[in-house]
Amino acid sequence: MEVPLLDLKEQYANIREEVLTATEEMFDSQRFILGPKVEELEERIARYCQCGYAVGVSSGTDALLISLMTAGVAHGDLVMTTPYTFFATAGAVARVGARPVFVDIDKGTYNMNPDELDLVFSQMDEKSRSRVKAIIPVHLFGQCVDMDPVMTFAEVNGLVVIEDAAQAIGAEYGSGNEGSQKRTGSMGHYGCFSFYPTKNLGAFGEAGMVTTNDKAVYKNLKTMRNHGDVARYDHRFVGGNFRMAALQAAVLLVKLNYLDEWIKKRRENANLYRKLFQEAELVDVSLPLEKEKRHIYNQFVINVKEQRDELKRYLNARGIGSEVFYPVPLHMQECFEYLGYKKEDFPVSEEASKRTLALPIYPELRPEQIHYVVDMIGKFLRQR
Ligand SMILES: *Cc1c(COP(=O)(O)O)cnc(C)c1O
Repeated sequence: MEVPLLDLKEQYANIREEVLTATEEMFDSQRFILGPKVEELEERIARYCQCGYAVGVSSGTDALLISLMTAGVAHGDLVMTTPYTFFATAGAVARVGARPVFVDIDKGTYNMNPDELDLVFSQMDEKSRSRVKAIIPVHLFGQCVDMDPVMTFAEVNGLVVIEDAAQAIGAEYGSGNEGSQKRTGSMGHYGCFSFYPTKNLGAFGEAGMVTTNDKAVYKNLKTMRNHGDVARYDHRFVGGNFRMAALQAAVLLVKLNYLDEWIKKRRENANLYRKLFQEAELVDVSLPLEKEKRHIYNQFVINVKEQRDELKRYLNARGIGSEVFYPVPLHMQECFEYLGYKKEDFPVSEEASKRTLALPIYPELRPEQIHYVVDMIGKFLRQR
């Protein structure tokens, strides 16, 4: 049986006619950049994320970059984030001339550990502490960071919070009563989203979005998106070309109608995995900890005690796709050598890099495929 890590063809087959109609309208209009489709998407994403405003941009990476630039983070500043994330999170910090300061993750959720945030900050000298300008909590794999302590810490220390919600559109924070949850992108000062094709809401190319509740920030983001021009040829500051393509907005407007249904299916798949893993009684595998009320499972990541890479190869030989996110934590990347970190500085991140494995979880996955994946993992673990 073939079980790819992700299969977008089936999703497309289900919405093909709608997408083709929407894109045809867009082609007929010959308005390729920004325009009414992008504005409509911005309004709908703002509403979906329970935010005041949203600004369509060219990618998730650019969403981070434009947020940092708009927040005025620049040369000499420090930005706190985790080393266990996609490269763009820390890459964007370095690109504005600031310095990433890493904070280890929580063992259960792989998200920023708020206690570590406090600890790292308290261990800095006075001068370094005054240089910290922002925090980037990353809602990894589709689950929200424990945001209350992060926001409190930011308020106390006067820091900007930029949520990296690239993997977590529609994820909710809070485990209390129904309706008390908050959506990603609505809690920090900026929320950064990616519509890269492998995300839960994927475009037909590169695209991203920044959300905010602050009208002044919203206006500045729009200016920054277009080279900092407040009016035509009137540039008050240096921005960039971070504009979103109308084609991507047209596709995303169709897909957004299905997002909650797709999230529901991903969650059902996660539940089936849980049931089957439990029945199989595999002691050397632990399943993702679901701490917040709505995990959207951009990835379903298991933790394998030993021989993770051997398991990956074993599954691959049996038609099952899987992936390691992320094999090298960012403090161990060559380009960040100058930050002066060494091996064992972030033990939880390093342990995760050695043990985690993402399994297929996409909405169109069939129950028999999930059965097959768990069967094969069981077979591998029992034969060792
Ligand atoms: C995908 C991703 C990004 C970057 O988004 P792109 O649209 O690929 O530029 C940033 N951060 C995280 C955590 C991501 O997963």
